[in-house]
Amino acid sequence: VWDNCLLFIKDNIQPQAYKTWFEPIVAVKLADKALSIQVPSKFFYEWLEEHYVKILKVALTKELGATAKLVYIIRMENTYGNKQPFTEKIPSSNRSAVKSQAIDVSFKNKSPELKNPFVIPGIRNVKIESQLNPNYNFDNFLEGDSNRLARNAGLAVSAKPGGTSFNPLLIFGGVGLGKTHLAHAIGVDIKDKYPEKTVLYISAEKFQQQYVESVRKNNRNDFIHFYQLIDVLIIDDVQFLSGKAGTQDVFFHIFNHLHQNGKQVILTSDKAPVDMQDIEQRLLSRFKWGLSAELQTPDFETRIAILKNKLYRDGVEMEEDIINYIAKHIKSNIRELEGAIISLIAQSSFNRKEVTIELARQIVEKFVKNTKREVSIDYIQKIVSDYFQMDVDTLQSKTRKRHIVQARQLAMFFAKKFTKASLASIGSQIGKRDHATVLHACKTVDNLSTTDKQFRKYVEDLTKKLSV
Ligand code: ADP
Ligand code: MG
Repeated sequence: VWDNCLLFIKDNIQPQAYKTWFEPIVAVKLADKALSIQVPSKFFYEWLEEHYVKILKVALTKELGATAKLVYIIRMENTYGNKQPFTEKIPSSNRSAVKSQAIDVSFKNKSPELKNPFVIPGIRNVKIESQLNPNYNFDNFLEGDSNRLARNAGLAVSAKPGGTSFNPLLIFGGVGLGKTHLAHAIGVDIKDKYPEKTVLYISAEKFQQQYVESVRKNNRNDFIHFYQLIDVLIIDDVQFLSGKAGTQDVFFHIFNHLHQNGKQVILTSDKAPVDMQDIEQRLLSRFKWGLSAELQTPDFETRIAILKNKLYRDGVEMEEDIINYIAKHIKSNIRELEGAIISLIAQSSFNRKEVTIELARQIVEKFVKNTKREVSIDYIQKIVSDYFQMDVDTLQSKTRKRHIVQARQLAMFFAKKFTKASLASIGSQIGKRDHATVLHACKTVDNLSTTDKQFRKYVEDLTKKLSV
């Protein structure tokens, strides 16, 4: 069957892509219209899913009919450079060492998130799908100073759900810092320790949609009743509820019911409770009952550890220099950190290029383009002189011509604003002036930009140019 699929795929995609992504696959078994294939790494699996799922589906349906299923088995390598797969040799009791992982990706209901967990009761004993993603667990949520409190609070909660003072547990922090991962990890760990407990993970957005739907269908009470059956409720991105009074109200009732009955509530938010806007006061005060734990931006060591762990799990080798380079330049978002590594691997395997610092530099540049980059004084002088169509030497010269003086003062002003350099150091770099001159320049720019319309436009234009 697989051979036929391969023939079909080969005819339909680029030979190079076929070679890279399909030749390494090993068909393992076929049972009940479910074909299991073994792929070299998790990254490989994700790539196939992202880029070739359609053609795989067509090929497989042609061979096995509409009920065809595809199961990926991920083979991982033990250490860098050791290509020997060790799937069988690890005792399965050693949880973190199990390196073979089967992911069932039947085409229907491919992602658990697509399923709607809200089954209208009435029928007793509704089975509630937890919607948890087992790939987000504590084992692969690395600890660092930036997340220690939140991670340990999470562990405490999963050891005794509803039985600690961390109820609710609110995890907050910026984008890509691990809120969703940690929220799942807590749920997964609870399911592991207490299989009988009903755990539900849901995004606030989905929660809201279900609520609106229940109102439309006239079964708001069923909605509330459904949520009251849950032992551990995890709601991701509660900031989404701001301004949505109806949903906040229903959540308030659900929350109170769960809390009074010793059930655990876990929330995540991109803001601390004090900074949440348009959330009702009574709800905010509930959020503060338990513990609010922040996920901060990870320090360099933690970033390195996360990258290495990801590479290890994907069975990919990479030079230390390159890992350091990436960790050094991508600082404020773990998702971007991982994204950069994934692009790097993809680029190199696609173009059969070696992973070099240069390639890493290009990719990092794409990732950090939108974030604020620290500009240099040289760069500021260049941008300002270009803007006034003069060269940098002219800008730095001793002349007192008005437009040149203004350009120089603007360069000093922006150097003060956009760099951490001292007044003295700015002065010495912009035509060997002293710190008093720089200070005077900054004041002049401040004054002129409030009194002189044309001048204000210069400041605005240059600010834009320097901010991208
Ligand atoms: P958020 O929900 O805060 O936007 P996510 O939970 O989606 O962030 O995390 C972004 C990515 O970073 C995910 O792939 C996640 O697995 C990874 N990640 C975040 N924190 C850690 C950590 N401490 N260790 C390992 N991976 C992490
Ligand atoms: Mg998230």
